[in-house]
Amino acid sequence: MACIFCKIAREEIPAQIVYHDELATAFRDINPKAPVHILVIPNQHLTSLHDAVGEDHQTLVGHLLQVCAQIAEQEKIAQDGYRVVTNIGRNAGQSVDHLHFHVLGGRPMHWPPG
Ligand code: 5GP
Ligand code: ZN
Repeated sequence: MACIFCKIAREEIPAQIVYHDELATAFRDINPKAPVHILVIPNQHLTSLHDAVGEDHQTLVGHLLQVCAQIAEQEKIAQDGYRVVTNIGRNAGQSVDHLHFHVLGGRPMHWPPG
């Protein structure tokens, strides 16, 4: 499987991993859009959040969101506030087709996003 995030989850290619467990991996975005920019992914390949609907994936998606909150705490951005984003498909600008949550913080965010 040529998916770059699958390879990061399996530690086959390097990334700055900040958290790893049996379901999820979190690592620093290679092109950060904020002082803290971490990606939280499932270790298993799912194309996007839209691929993760249904009972089978409820526990996994809940876990990924909890990891996002835990990362925000670990990176000390929780107190000032932070953003969790997932892009789904072309119109949203998804560029890597493996489900990922962006955890962004360390600066004020604009709303609405572009
Ligand atoms: P998307 O545009 O799909 O929502 O987000 C994909 C994110 O993955 C982008 O922010 C991009 O910078 C990041 N990214 C793409 N390839 C790599 C990589 O090889 N390593 C890391 N750490 N981040 C990557
Ligand atoms: Zn993948």
